[in-house]
Amino acid sequence: MVGRIGVLALQGGYGKHLEALERCKAPAFPLYHPHELDSCVGLILPGGESTTIWQQLEDFDFLNPLKTFAEQKPLFGTCAGMILMSRLHLLSITVERNGYGRQKVSFSTPLTLEFSPSKTIEALFIRAPKITSIDSPDVKILARNEEEVVCIQQGIHLACSFHPELTTETTLHEYFISLCKEKPSLQPL
Ligand code: GLN
Repeated sequence: MVGRIGVLALQGGYGKHLEALERCKAPAFPLYHPHELDSCVGLILPGGESTTIWQQLEDFDFLNPLKTFAEQKPLFGTCAGMILMSRLHLLSITVERNGYGRQKVSFSTPLTLEFSPSKTIEALFIRAPKITSIDSPDVKILARNEEEVVCIQQGIHLACSFHPELTTETTLHEYFISLCKEKPSLQPL
């Protein structure tokens, strides 16, 4: 693996993403400051409380550095992380926070990913955002739960409304690592 993957560590479930990346044998670190973006080949925005993380992104002057980073390198937003990517206009989707409503605050369901059709993964939804519309043909649908789109790719960026870091299998993390490796600008550290 070349370079390191940052996991935004302002709030939320960054620890479990670091563990998942470790299972994939990908070098990774918790990212606390915008200047640390320079040393990353990709960045994961974890689940958590999107309003709190957004506030911290503003307070720590992350917003513009993140947008610049995203022009060159892949981001992977999970749950609240997907909400943040949409708020940053990095994804052409409309997202409704807590879109699965009170009855279905949390649930788990098997899913198949478009790039790995022979495999079923277990997807855990926790007060998950719902993708209510896909606003560009550039958005590729990677998974649906019944009718709902729950995982997408747009260019080099990946996002899902569930929590792949909370299950033991690592298909989506491995896919993200492959997106990070594909970038020609990557240099071995
Ligand atoms: N409901 C949370 C929010 O809107 C996201 C939940 C999660 O990341 N598990 O920020």
